[in-house]
Amino acid sequence: MKTMTVTEFHGALIAQGVKREDLALICPMCQTVQSATDLIAAGAGSNFDEVEKYLGFSCVGRFTGAGTPRKDPDGAACNWTLGGLFALHKLEVVTEDGKRHPRFEPATPDQAMQHALKQGGAA
Ligand SMILES: [Zn+2]
Repeated sequence: MKTMTVTEFHGALIAQGVKREDLALICPMCQTVQSATDLIAAGAGSNFDEVEKYLGFSCVGRFTGAGTPRKDPDGAACNWTLGGLFALHKLEVVTEDGKRHPRFEPATPDQAMQHALKQGGAA
């Protein structure tokens, strides 16, 4: 299991150099890159603050009626959420009190930029 401190996690997101709404994380099950923009488009909430709790925790597919994760990622989202019975995540963010919080892994700056551009959002 990979671990990051909150500071490292935020640093990895800031390093993407995109708008807050375009900060991108990768679902560990379906490998899709997703951001708050995707969650808002999927109807999870109407703005960043409303979808922030799902970002990096629940796959956008949960809000679009996507199916369970396929054995081989096919580019489509899935209905995965962390915090369930199965700990299949790859990253835990460790807060100052030593608690470990499963999170999706941040995308690379390149992936985040590509993803933002694909959605028509200028970085
Ligand atoms: Zn997924």
